[in-house]
Amino acid sequence: MPELPEVETARKLIADEALYRRIVGVDDADTFVCRPHSPGELRDALTGRVLTAARRRGKTMWCETSGVSKAAEPGPDLGIHLGMGGRIIVTSKSGQSFEGGGPSRRDAQPRKPEWNRFTLDFADGGSLVLFDKRRLGRIRLNPDIDALGPDAADVTAAEFRGLITKGSIAVKARLLDQSKLAGVGNLLADEVLWKAKVSPAARTASLQRKDADRLYRALESALESATAKGGVHTGDVIAARHPGGTCPRCGAEMIHGTVGGRSTWWCSREQAPSPGAVG
Ligand SMILES: [Zn+2]
Repeated sequence: MPELPEVETARKLIADEALYRRIVGVDDADTFVCRPHSPGELRDALTGRVLTAARRRGKTMWCETSGVSKAAEPGPDLGIHLGMGGRIIVTSKSGQSFEGGGPSRRDAQPRKPEWNRFTLDFADGGSLVLFDKRRLGRIRLNPDIDALGPDAADVTAAEFRGLITKGSIAVKARLLDQSKLAGVGNLLADEVLWKAKVSPAARTASLQRKDADRLYRALESALESATAKGGVHTGDVIAARHPGGTCPRCGAEMIHGTVGGRSTWWCSREQAPSPGAVG
C-alpha cells in the first residue's frame, strides 16, 4: 500500500512531467473512483486548464490548476489518492511513459485498459493516468486537507513529541492516525517502532521524552531511506515480518500480533511490551 514515500514519488513525477500541459480531455467515467462527482463533472471542471503545482500531505496528493484563460481565477484543486496500490503514469508528447506510486510488480500481468481509472489528455498528445487495478484510489476536487495532521516528513520534533505522548492508546495506533500525523502506514509504523526499540503496544502516555525523541529520529531516518530506495518495502525489518523471521539487529524471534487493528511484527527481545501496555 502506498505510504508517504511512494506518494512522494508520484507527486514528484507529476511536478516534473505533467505541469503546464493543457488539458483537452478528461476520462472521469469511473463513478466509484470519482465519487461523489458524476461523469462529466471533472471533465467540465478541468478542460482547458493546466496543472500548475503538485502538492502532498501524508498520503493525499493534490494538483493546483490554472484559470481557463490568463485573466481568469485559478481552477479547483484536483485531489488524487492512490488507495491501496494505485500508480500515476505520465506519458510525454513523444509517447515515453514515466511511473510513480506503489512498487511495480515484477509479475505484472498484461495491463487491462479498464484499470486506467482516470485520465487527463494533454494538448501535446500525452496523458496523465491513475492506474489502479484494485480500484481503491480516489479522484476528487478540492479534497479536505484540514482533517489531516502534519505531514510526517515535515513534523517538528516538538510537534511530534506532543502528538505521540498524548492520551493512552497503543503507540502504533497513534502513528497510524492520519488526523494526528499524516503519511505513516502499516509497514512504516513497524519499521519506525523497530528502529526505536519501542513496543507497538506501549501506551502513548507511558512514553518518556527520550522514547519520543528516539521515535522521531527513527521516523526521519526511515522516511529518508524509503524515499531514497523507492518505497517502504525496502525498510530494514520488513523482510523479517513473517513466521520464523528473526530480528535483523539482535537475531531474536519476531512476534506477530494485532495492534491498532493492524497486522504487526516486533522483536521479542528489544520491543517486549512493558507492564501496562495495551493488551
Ligand atoms: Zn531485536
